[in-house]
Amino acid sequence: MTRTTSASASTPAKTVLISGASIAGPALAYWLHRYGFVPTVVERAPELRTGGYKVDIRGTAIEVCRRMGILDEVRANSTDMRGGSYVDDAGRTIGELPAEIFGGRAEDDDEIMRGELARILHDRTRDDVEYLFDDSIAALAEDADGVDVTFESGPTRRFDLVVGADGMHSHTRRLVFGPEERYRRHLGAYISIFTAPNHLVLDRWETYHAAPGRLTCVYSSAGETDAKNLFVFASPEELPHDHRDTAAQKRLLADAFADGRWELPRLMRHAADADDFYFDAISLVEMDRWSKGRVVLLGDAAHCASPASGQGTGLALLGAYTLAGELAAARGDHRTAFAAYERVLRPGVERNQRMAESFVKELTVDRKWKIALRMFMVRTLPRTPWKNLIAKKIRDEIQAGAHAVPVKEYPAYGLPAGV
Ligand SMILES: Cc1cc2nc3c(=O)[nH]c(=O)nc-3n(C[C@H](O)[C@H](O)[C@H](O)COP(=O)(O)OP(=O)(O)OC[C@H]3O[C@@H](n4cnc5c(N)ncnc54)[C@H](O)[C@@H]3O)c2cc1C
Repeated sequence: MTRTTSASASTPAKTVLISGASIAGPALAYWLHRYGFVPTVVERAPELRTGGYKVDIRGTAIEVCRRMGILDEVRANSTDMRGGSYVDDAGRTIGELPAEIFGGRAEDDDEIMRGELARILHDRTRDDVEYLFDDSIAALAEDADGVDVTFESGPTRRFDLVVGADGMHSHTRRLVFGPEERYRRHLGAYISIFTAPNHLVLDRWETYHAAPGRLTCVYSSAGETDAKNLFVFASPEELPHDHRDTAAQKRLLADAFADGRWELPRLMRHAADADDFYFDAISLVEMDRWSKGRVVLLGDAAHCASPASGQGTGLALLGAYTLAGELAAARGDHRTAFAAYERVLRPGVERNQRMAESFVKELTVDRKWKIALRMFMVRTLPRTPWKNLIAKKIRDEIQAGAHAVPVKEYPAYGLPAGV
């Protein structure tokens, strides 16, 4: 195929292997292809992982979606949440909060299920990009001109560049930069989420229950017949557990939520049966550098800002846009491009990571009086004359993080897809 974008006219085609086909990986593949590079995506899962939870796309990440031509589809698949409420131990509503506070209904704040976004990105790229499912990088050997990649399935192939977009527990990071413990910092809490029948009959609504050191949220979004059940609990120390041992993780969750308040006994029974059970430490990934030689990290692999920031997806999209744009602008000179990518992204990433640290503490307040104070505010907020001011303050804080990474203009932007 002849590629005729301005980048490709003066840039020799660059082959790029991307590890991970969730958000960051396919978004990068989209932009690289558009600039005339030749991306290949390898994904460990046997097929596209479409499950998950709702994620926010805010601020400058919305502009990236617009430039990718997917914004209308993202909006058509919005969770369309109407709002949420806090309930007490007996399930009585303490107070309701509008969707604007939870996100999902404003011009500058979209919300979509992670799996839907992954599907949209995969659909956009599948005809132009080689996807290798059910495989993974086994070994990397870099020399002056490229990287020999041995796949777990056996073959060795050579690429100009390798990108690790394989999430918080990045395998690429481990292979190239060293053990995860060097870069992942536990933020003192765990998160779990799974799907179960919508027995609370929620319609685009989220219901919260708080107890000292714990928060439960049950929600059902547009088009979903089931409910998502999300749990956060404080644990200053990391709990020793095997990432692949789901049964042990279910026991840890059951232990943390064992006191039988509200709907917890029923939810724990559903947890035991769930086949999409997710459980992990809420963590930051902090690295001095995101690249080494011809290998660079992207999205959560480079800078996980924990689910608590609500910006992980946006940062993954912005990172993909920036990394591809810098590679195009540098005409494939990876040293120049990788350094510029970090310069553009890092300040915004760090800002969101600081926000994540404080949000995690908010999610797991450990004192009864602090929870009582919050419930008082939830109860009285809708009746206070300052409710719009308070809602605006919360939104302004979130939006400051969401606008912290700029959308740079790149020379090849606006050209037709890499044809
Ligand atoms: C419960 C929860 C709620 C969240 N809520 C929000 C939110 O409200 N807003 C928000 O913006 N973000 C949220 N996030 C974070 C968001 O999901 C991530 O920041 C985002 O998905 C990052 O995308 P990524 O592509 O970098 O990594 P990931 O989505 O983690 O994808 C990594 C991919 O790499 C693959 N992979 C792993 N290992 C290998 C390997 N060895 N070889 C090949 N492939 C591999 C995985 O299968 C996966 O497909 C939430 C996360 C969780 C867990």
